[in-house]
Amino acid sequence: MPVVRRLSEDMINRIAAGEVVERPASVVKELVENAIDAGAKRVEIVTAGGGASLIRVSDDGGGMTRDDLALAIDRHCTSKLADDLLDIRTLGFRGEALASIGAVARLSIASRHASEPHAWEIVVEGGLVHPPRPAGLSSGTRVEVTDLFFSTPARLKFLKGERAEATAVTDIVKRLAMAHPEVRFALTGSDRSALDYPVAHGDDPFVERLGQILGQGFVDNAIAIEAEREGIRLSGYAGLPTFNRGNGLHQFLFVNGRPVRDKLLLGALRAGYADVMSRDRHPVAALRIELEPHGVDVNVHPAKSDVRFRDPGLVRGLIVGALRNAIHQAGHRSATTGGSATLAAFRTGAPPTAPAWRPAAPSMFSGSGAGATPVSFAAWQNNPAPAQPAYARTAAFAEPAQPAFAAVNIPSADARANIPAEIDLSDRPLGAARAQLHENYIIAQTTNGLVIVDQHAAHERLVYERMKTALARSGVARQILLIPDVIDLPEDDVGRLLKRADEFAELGLVIEGFGPGAVAVRETPALLGELDTRALLVNLADDLAEWDDTTRLREKLDHVAATMACHGSVRSGRRLRPEEMDALLREMEATPGSGQCNHGRPTYVELKLSDIERLFGRR
Ligand code: ADP
Ligand code: MG
Repeated sequence: MPVVRRLSEDMINRIAAGEVVERPASVVKELVENAIDAGAKRVEIVTAGGGASLIRVSDDGGGMTRDDLALAIDRHCTSKLADDLLDIRTLGFRGEALASIGAVARLSIASRHASEPHAWEIVVEGGLVHPPRPAGLSSGTRVEVTDLFFSTPARLKFLKGERAEATAVTDIVKRLAMAHPEVRFALTGSDRSALDYPVAHGDDPFVERLGQILGQGFVDNAIAIEAEREGIRLSGYAGLPTFNRGNGLHQFLFVNGRPVRDKLLLGALRAGYADVMSRDRHPVAALRIELEPHGVDVNVHPAKSDVRFRDPGLVRGLIVGALRNAIHQAGHRSATTGGSATLAAFRTGAPPTAPAWRPAAPSMFSGSGAGATPVSFAAWQNNPAPAQPAYARTAAFAEPAQPAFAAVNIPSADARANIPAEIDLSDRPLGAARAQLHENYIIAQTTNGLVIVDQHAAHERLVYERMKTALARSGVARQILLIPDVIDLPEDDVGRLLKRADEFAELGLVIEGFGPGAVAVRETPALLGELDTRALLVNLADDLAEWDDTTRLREKLDHVAATMACHGSVRSGRRLRPEEMDALLREMEATPGSGQCNHGRPTYVELKLSDIERLFGRR
């Protein structure tokens, strides 16, 4: 017969500790949060063995009296929560961190409160409490945790290696330091390289701290975000779409000064960039949300990294709207960082010494298109000239044994220029087209440098923006194919596509069934020009397979438009006439969001004259 027994206090603490103290990083989080709650201006963290053998957190906050110290290590003892769980203005409030840590490690806390003649120290070992005794510490609090999980060996086994645990500690310290730029943070230890973030004093302490933690590269490539809706304030910095990463680790979100990893917020961040970034890339951002405490419940999980908003739709809308807006306003700005990495590579490169090398033909910069009539980019695009043979490439790759710089000897006809040098460049940020190289890169001269445009990426972006505008205005003009394209596809793809045929028709793509395993394409969106209908349908079918049956295409419009634009864009390898190149640059300048293609890659890079001078060691 089962016997119901009351668990011992020690057992209760160990069970609770399992939720609060998952790994060394969680101990660091709790202790640093306590220091911040105590009003510290300086927090020093020392670790050894990834935090498993030692964690020491010292602060210069208000400290504790002897009596408080004795109580603080008991479960459910806190100085922070009065009686309203929905009015939480501190990082802690559950009163269980110190008790949990004391249950699974050796914990010693020395603390001096101003009202005490000297400091007191208390020690807890695997739940066993020693009474407070006098200690030497002039102010603040120093907490030392050694031999984490010595009393719960099962947990110990789940720890990753020293390095991984040390990295997790670093991550949590970075997040807390980012949320509190008014506090100095120092992190040192035998298991790591030291970090030191001095107090940020300037006009914008947050951006200063971001620079310390994420590097100036992020600050230079970020857009300031500032928005408010119904008392909820959003602020922070979001990376340019071209400044993206391969994973989501560089996304920092804070709610009322608390670092969170909340699904709703991460989803909103993703949605804000959906338009300008492919699904396998991740934006970099540090965003803060401030609202009055009643608007958010932080008591969802003991670790407090999830939150519940009273009005989740409002918060999501605020974030998505602010990000889209800011990215839109940043217009054709594109990340500078790729460029400086390239510059660095240039600088370390040895000058070519191979005998085959000759200076590039000077004809590259001589005009050949003088007096050419301007052609609108749209006109060019609807009437594309046939692609020229890519003999430049063939020359470079025909004989694999040849070194790549043989390409220097390409016929100079591949690069032509048209615009007189005296032209006024001041209102043309992308400059005047001077040449096209490798049949995809347009070189333009600006007032103080040069710009290299990836013609394919740029065109794709422009088509996408035009398509969105057309859709919003009046629907898409269609173009009837004289002979329908019949595309063989797997049966379930055919089914998926035909189920959405009406919606596709709204977007300018008219398809119908053609037996069980094929689809006939009758009309396509006119502004896509000639396109590879097969590749387009395959991609659209893939998208549909991923989406919910009830998702309306209108909701996914941006995505569908991006897929279509990608297939309707001029591929690289197409020679442009000088006036076509110029028309492309002018349209890019006029089009918001043209600084990156639909996959978040830059559409152009810029080299300032000063960069070029540095390349040649002139500066
Ligand atoms: P909580 O932070 O949820 O209140 P903790 O177990 O983390 O619970 O801490 C218990 C109490 O100990 C706190 O409420 C606070 O009064 C006190 N305390 C803990 N750390 C410090 C510190 N570094 N400085 C001053 N007081 C502290
Ligand atoms: Mg706490």
